[in-house]
Amino acid sequence: MATIFTKIINGDIPSYKIAEDDEFYSFLDINPNAKGHTLVIPKKEVNKIFDLDEETYNGLMAFSYRVAKALEKSVPCKRVGMSVVGLEVPHVHVHLIPINIMDDMRFTKKEKLSHEEFVALAEKIAGNF
Ligand code: AMP
Repeated sequence: MATIFTKIINGDIPSYKIAEDDEFYSFLDINPNAKGHTLVIPKKEVNKIFDLDEETYNGLMAFSYRVAKALEKSVPCKRVGMSVVGLEVPHVHVHLIPINIMDDMRFTKKEKLSHEEFVALAEKIAGNF
């Protein structure tokens, strides 16, 4: 069965899209640790990051680098933190999180944003990509 992220790539489920190319897709995390929390995924459906072939892994990192640069320009923060967990959704995803304090990297701390705030944020980051 297709993962929720494959459904997002295919447009069957909406997302606050940041960027995509033939192999990768990036969108805002719907339950963000901090404002601007973004996910970067390979379109190829693989569960665990170190099961990716090396070329896709390197491509994912290169795409994440570009998204992180756009995040730095768009969201005031001390730096962009990066994390890979994957216990919830079995489709490789890199978390890019604009952080100011250590707790911003904890997945127990959550930020509430309105639909309009998500849209405005995604447009801004996409514009800087
Ligand atoms: P994990 O698999 O533990 O790395 O976490 C999965 C992440 O995906 C969580 O931060 C969720 O908030 C996020 N997530 C789950 N469903 C969606 C969705 N439909 N759109 C955006 N983010 C999502």
